[in-house]
Amino acid sequence: MPGRVLSVASECVPLVKTGGLADVVGALPKALAPLGWDMRVLIPAYRGLAAKLGRKTRTVWSDPALFGGPATVEAVEAQGLSLLLLDAPHLYDRPGGPYSDGGHDFPDNPERFAALSWVAASLARGGGTDGWVPDILHAHDWQAGFAPAYLRFGGAAPVKSVITIHNIAFQGHASPERLAALRLPLHEFHAGSLEYYGNLSSLKAGLVHADRITTVSPTYAEELMRPEFGMGLQGVIAARAEVVSGILNGVDTELWDPAAPGQAHPYSVQNRKPKAEARAALLAEFGLGPVEGPLAIVISRLTAQKGIDLIAAAAPEFLAGGGGLVVLGSGDPGLEHAMRGLAAAWPDRVGVKIGYDEALGHRMFAGGDVVLVPSRFEPCGLTQLYGLRYGTLPVVAATGGLADTVVHANTMALAAGTATGLTFHPTDVLALTQTLRRCLALFADRPTWARMQRAAMKSPVGWETSSRTYAALYADLLT
Ligand code: ADP
Repeated sequence: MPGRVLSVASECVPLVKTGGLADVVGALPKALAPLGWDMRVLIPAYRGLAAKLGRKTRTVWSDPALFGGPATVEAVEAQGLSLLLLDAPHLYDRPGGPYSDGGHDFPDNPERFAALSWVAASLARGGGTDGWVPDILHAHDWQAGFAPAYLRFGGAAPVKSVITIHNIAFQGHASPERLAALRLPLHEFHAGSLEYYGNLSSLKAGLVHADRITTVSPTYAEELMRPEFGMGLQGVIAARAEVVSGILNGVDTELWDPAAPGQAHPYSVQNRKPKAEARAALLAEFGLGPVEGPLAIVISRLTAQKGIDLIAAAAPEFLAGGGGLVVLGSGDPGLEHAMRGLAAAWPDRVGVKIGYDEALGHRMFAGGDVVLVPSRFEPCGLTQLYGLRYGTLPVVAATGGLADTVVHANTMALAAGTATGLTFHPTDVLALTQTLRRCLALFADRPTWARMQRAAMKSPVGWETSSRTYAALYADLLT
């Protein structure tokens, strides 16, 4: 039984993005529309956003005093989305990114995103002036965490709520002195509701008060209930295990398509020959010599989470064995230095570009043989999905969404023709070194490698399955 969903978040592709959260928030309405679900997305009207859309908006909600200033909600259809922009200049019309001025987090972030959550709850209760009332409020991450709580504290309402965890590392902590300013009841400041080790946590508020909790892969859903991954919230999540589920993210298979006309060397599962040309072009672009073994690529934030230090340690044996490596990313200065050091030590085999470059990313997926993702934790991960789509086989740590999307080349999977990459555990130098050794051997076995590439390229990495799973979750909430 399809219905109406109000999705509330701080980011949405293609309007504002700092991470994978934005991709999912922007993709879900389009994925769910064919299944009959009417989804609107509420986001803050950051500086310049309304102007960027260049469309006429309709005011559907207003308040002369929202957390210290006047505010309206402007409805607009743009980019294939039904958007609701929360226009509150005292909160959002300022220079910088969504969360910071470029260097420091905005000190009023608790108020800024509590206001977003407050408005979501108000709209969910029928506060909009255009008659559109959702059946479900879907909150994303800590920025929307108070929305299910406000809904609950406001008394009985026929609206159900879902919260999705995209990254448990950000929990929306604030001092309890802000309780009243955030329009939260003082008596809810206890460990069973809003309190988290003496502070407020908006993410915890959402996890306690939403009807359902989801995260972005089934394995991460289980990991989150364990101390190694739950970052202090494992007990809260485990206590609600019966309403927790993991639903994988999909990728935009039009944007990430090795056969797309825009590609210099388009190839498909039936005709993979041009992939060799893309590989040669990538080697030439980085000024590398011939690489007889597998050409590995890394496209990533260069951080400890992503296991980049493990690559620095494990690469020399792989390179000496005939492999090559091309790295694109930026982040931790020490890790950037380590990657540059590899390139200096292996000038014919290692290319490194420090920076962010979407077009180069596409060329790397087209030209690479394997994509390395040795993450210490990975809620879902997108790069392994792009790798599958491009026949660039993922070599990944067996954690979170990586474990759920890559079929390890064990004996049975190889025999069945289902293997699509290599997974390893634990996430340490020894396991990565051993797996890269295995990768060299597999690559030398050309028929087996080709079979794995075909299986990888046929993997269902789009939104088809997950959109049905979200739809089933919503439908279940409404029965
Ligand atoms: P996370 O969101 O934790 O950074 P994901 O794998 O979910 O990791 O998403 C990262 C996205 O950003 C992918 O689309 C990846 O291709 C892209 N990306 C990361 N670093 C770069 C870079 N330096 N240049 C181009 N794209 C990048």
